[in-house]
Amino acid sequence: MADESTPMMRQYREIKAKYPDAFLFFRLGDFYEMFFDDAVEASRILELTLTKRNDIPMCGVPYHAADNYLARMIKAGKKVAICDQLEDPRQAKGIVKRDVTQVMTPGTVIENRLLDGRSNNYTLSIALAENGESAGIAVADVSTGEFISIEIAHDPIASIADEIARFAPKEILIPDTYEENADIAALLKRSPDIYVSRVGGWSFAADYARDTLIRHFAVATLKGFGIDDTPLVISAAGGLIHYLSEMQKSSLSHIRTLSLYNRSAHMVLDDATQTSLELAAVSGKNDRTLLSVIDETLTGMGARRLKQFIVNPLIDANAVNERLDRVDFFVTNAAVRSSVRDDLKQVHDIERLVTRLALGRLNPKDMVSLKLSLMNACAGAEKLLADGYKDERFASEKECRVVIDIIERALLEEPAIAINEGGIIKDGFDATLAKYNEARREGRQWILALEEEYKKETGISNLRIRYNNIIGYFIEVTKGQLKNVTSTFIKRQTLVGSERFTTEKLSAHEAVINDANEKGNSLEEKIYLTVREEIRTHIDALKSMAEAIALADVFSALAQCAVKRRYTRPHIDTGSAIDIKDGRHPVVEEYLSSNAFIPNDVTLDASEHRLIIITGPNMSGKSTYLRQTALIVLLAQIGSFVPAREASIGIVDRIFTRVGASDNIARGESTFLVEMNETANILNNCTNRSLIIMDEIGRGTSTYDGMAIAWAIAWAIVEYLSGNPKKAGKTLFATHYHELTLLEELPGVKNASVLVREHKGEIVFMKKVVAGPAKASYGIYAAKLAGVPGSVTTRAEAILAQLERDGEVQVNILEKGSAGKASKKKDMLPLFADEAKESEIEAEIRKIDADTLTPLAALQMISTWKERLHSGDQK
Ligand code: ATP
Repeated sequence: MADESTPMMRQYREIKAKYPDAFLFFRLGDFYEMFFDDAVEASRILELTLTKRNDIPMCGVPYHAADNYLARMIKAGKKVAICDQLEDPRQAKGIVKRDVTQVMTPGTVIENRLLDGRSNNYTLSIALAENGESAGIAVADVSTGEFISIEIAHDPIASIADEIARFAPKEILIPDTYEENADIAALLKRSPDIYVSRVGGWSFAADYARDTLIRHFAVATLKGFGIDDTPLVISAAGGLIHYLSEMQKSSLSHIRTLSLYNRSAHMVLDDATQTSLELAAVSGKNDRTLLSVIDETLTGMGARRLKQFIVNPLIDANAVNERLDRVDFFVTNAAVRSSVRDDLKQVHDIERLVTRLALGRLNPKDMVSLKLSLMNACAGAEKLLADGYKDERFASEKECRVVIDIIERALLEEPAIAINEGGIIKDGFDATLAKYNEARREGRQWILALEEEYKKETGISNLRIRYNNIIGYFIEVTKGQLKNVTSTFIKRQTLVGSERFTTEKLSAHEAVINDANEKGNSLEEKIYLTVREEIRTHIDALKSMAEAIALADVFSALAQCAVKRRYTRPHIDTGSAIDIKDGRHPVVEEYLSSNAFIPNDVTLDASEHRLIIITGPNMSGKSTYLRQTALIVLLAQIGSFVPAREASIGIVDRIFTRVGASDNIARGESTFLVEMNETANILNNCTNRSLIIMDEIGRGTSTYDGMAIAWAIAWAIVEYLSGNPKKAGKTLFATHYHELTLLEELPGVKNASVLVREHKGEIVFMKKVVAGPAKASYGIYAAKLAGVPGSVTTRAEAILAQLERDGEVQVNILEKGSAGKASKKKDMLPLFADEAKESEIEAEIRKIDADTLTPLAALQMISTWKERLHSGDQK
């Protein structure tokens, strides 16, 4: 078959030439076949047997199981072009017409099996200004029809990185003209797991892109989308729509609008903050995230919306309170909550079903699933409206009921998946179909009667009349019974244990049955397509219902979470204070036994408590305290209740974090560089409405360097507080450097520490944050707890003792002023034992032979050493 010279191979080559960078799945009968290099690589990825025909390597996957294999190709980050048969091979004259019907990449798939139901599947396109100073971004989820554009006015590369972290796209689209752009190259290097597609720059050219959008939305201008005078946004959006429709081979009629994302209406969360606060898992890497804990949603649509909420906290107090009212509704009305959530459990992914409807890929089974989902959605909507929950999108209920009715009247309850093999339309829907069905039923009866007749005639009790797609109806007789076959039986096929026959009678009637079948099947297909077209006209209503249901799911889930985990409604205002009583870390508490989490208070404001310096030993709970404050603020601003006894939150415009030490080797940045980049970002961009979380700044470099930097940064923030009120963020600053506690002398700075008790020589971490600095660091104790070998901790204790004796630091915290002096630093301590200069006394001790030394001689030696030490001439 795979002969270079055959017309089929010529057809293959022609089609493949149009998709050189894709694996071509070429439909041949019941298989998708791959040839040449595609076959070699795909056989490795898919673990298929590689065969050869006429020296051409080939491998194939069964058509019915193609989805599984496609999913594996997409997961492996490959592009696949699906080449289908465009006509029925039985009716084709000459070679069957074939062409590519869909091209798939990680960001452009719409099949359920290839998608994560609870996550969006975004493709993000980038248009960068020639001078590199501004950019436009467009983001689309072709599986749901969402389409968003973002204008980036300055600092484009950092902002694009933030948006990449926020949307977590599966694919990035750029024009091929950026091939040489170093900034873009660096940006892509930061996200090595994301599939990158490069397309002809012309599709991003402003005029062409504008035309693409105007044609797509069938509008006269782009004014209605608010992007008319932002050419970069138009480029990114037009380029993206062009690309997606090329991939889907469709006009994407489910993408109904383009929303302009207003960056200033949302809290800015840079990528470092999103990662360090562990908001949502990045490609399944971390399951202990904020989202994983609070996610009680029951539908894929709700799950996706909640994920969007988490990375897009609001900064308008009214909008936040509106969401909180909705959550409150579900908290207060427990019975409605539980009953509506029962309905939601029966709602499938209407949003993605609508996409398949729009793209002409909704199969009969999907259609019934859409009907059942709409029935439950409408039931939920009715209950909600009756109980005073308002959402104007629920007005689409009436139209949705029309759709339910259409499907209910036409489709069988459990239809077949294929549209051309019958078994989808109800008998009573169409009089002609009823007639064909009657003929089909009669045909089947006739066949059963004939089977009985032949059984009697031949005496073969296990004789069967069966059917398959290749030879049609046949009489099957097992080998042992062949001697009883009569002369009217005409042989058709020989199998291992049986033979297949037909008779003139059977053949003649088969034609009648086949005729009824074929006519019936094609009529069913026709009816199905008409029904599908009819419900396609209701897409807007279906989308409205999907959106309203997604939101009801989110709010009822947040209520469910609040009740289950004892969260309370935060008070939100436009003031500048954050006041949390008995706050808890939502994720840490989830994984501790019940009530084991020790709650803590936080007060931050624009006067006395602008910067809190938190000291305390390792493992005492400093980081947890810092992060829980950020997470409580974030939860409050997405409209969720919060893990605290009480919380009052003055809206925060940005959360900045500089936490933990992590190298980013992939980006070629060291721990210290990452730390300093993030710090620079904070100091350059914070405002007096920002919340800044700084944990362990100044690690990753030498002690005094690190301390100097920690000090300087704390100082800078403090200076901003007093000298630059517009930039002064509210700051929680955890540090190991005790010297920093001296900064309390400055206005707005307060010390806090995590309480530690010593009990019978053991140290107990109380996890309670109290006012005032910590007493000591207990780092060595923590090292012992962690199982660091005794020889190391003993040595550390000796070094610590020496440091405490010799290495004090002198810093005058207020250059003009008085207070806050610590004493003088001497030489830097040697890090290794053999570098230390041994004192005379130490040398003497070393020489002593303890086995022969008498107690009296030992006492005398000690007393002389003491005298020498006291006199100060010897150490
Ligand atoms: P390091 O300085 O080593 O980073 P740390 O002081 O920041 O330590 P955390 O990492 O915050 O300490 O906390 C250590 C562990 O203590 C956490 O993993 C958590 O399990 C537990 N913990 C923290 N805070 C609390 C709390 N309030 N109640 C109960 N357990 C807590």
